[in-house]
Amino acid sequence: MVSARRVLVGSVAVGGGAPISVQSMLKCDPHDAKTSLRQLKRLQRCGCQIVRMAVPDQNSIPVLAELVKRSSIPLVADIHFQPLLALLAIDAGVAKVRINPGNMTRSGQIQVLRQASQAGIPLRAGLNSGSLPKGLLALDLPGQLVEGAERFLHLAREVGFEQLIFSLKASHASDTIEANRRFAQRYEYPLHIGLTEAGPLPEGLVHSALACQPLLAEGIGDTLRISLSAPPEIEVLAALALLEGMSLRPSRLRLVSCPTCGRTRQPLAPLLSAVRKLSPEIQRPLTVAVMGCEVNGPGEAAAADLGLIWMGGKIGLFRDGALIRTVERKGLLHALRQEIARLP
Ligand code: SF4
Repeated sequence: MVSARRVLVGSVAVGGGAPISVQSMLKCDPHDAKTSLRQLKRLQRCGCQIVRMAVPDQNSIPVLAELVKRSSIPLVADIHFQPLLALLAIDAGVAKVRINPGNMTRSGQIQVLRQASQAGIPLRAGLNSGSLPKGLLALDLPGQLVEGAERFLHLAREVGFEQLIFSLKASHASDTIEANRRFAQRYEYPLHIGLTEAGPLPEGLVHSALACQPLLAEGIGDTLRISLSAPPEIEVLAALALLEGMSLRPSRLRLVSCPTCGRTRQPLAPLLSAVRKLSPEIQRPLTVAVMGCEVNGPGEAAAADLGLIWMGGKIGLFRDGALIRTVERKGLLHALRQEIARLP
């Protein structure tokens, strides 16, 4: 069950059978252009396809406009309460606006719908369990999320606006799954999936996966954000891992590593981050195993294309379970590039 309608968020197609896209949100001061741009570039490098920015006041509009100009991925304005901010964001050139119908007046929503229509950009109605519209009649939370989305849909249809994406998020997986299932059974609009207030690592990640995996397995969900109380890059890496693990997108770099134990020779973190650094350059499916010692490492890494194993103070590079060379930590990136290029 894939949303039949397709909406364009800048250059990224959402719905209608388009590949499921990954998004995240800037988590820095929206009045600080430099930091925001740096974070946006980091997100882009790790595979984020759509990035959202909170627009809490008019002072954040110049930063938004600056990012729109300098970003090569679509930028979305996240607006609560004030329709004026949405209108200003649309004027600034955003690729999409996200509003919460639970905290904006009906007349404000109409204003935003009209302006988005004129600008030719889509709009996401983001329904969250913690801020639902008043006066909903449904008895259960999934029903209320669906009813809130339907109310907005009726309003949008009155205005003649169809470039819609919906999200129906609760902080529990079961409510989120049920709400999205019910909505997807009735409507063909693209769905942005994820939990709201999912939590910190590790439990936020587990709950998000518990919510998103069953939906994606049923073909529900056209774009996703794994919301976490963690750096946004983690959200992107988690969403990519979920999609790749479910074979919903081709896997490029698959990083496997041992859990470490009392035999670990040196910390794994520098090796893992060195491999991750190469990720944007890797254009083929590649599994790299990073292991903490030579006792179990070679055997455990044998199934990977390349194994990196701490051997005393040096790093052993393994292929097919056999040592091909040892390198110092500072020469690792260069050696990795060479060995990846030599792979069949
Ligand atoms: S590979 Fe070595 S360091 Fe890593 S968990 Fe196994 S025994 Fe421990």
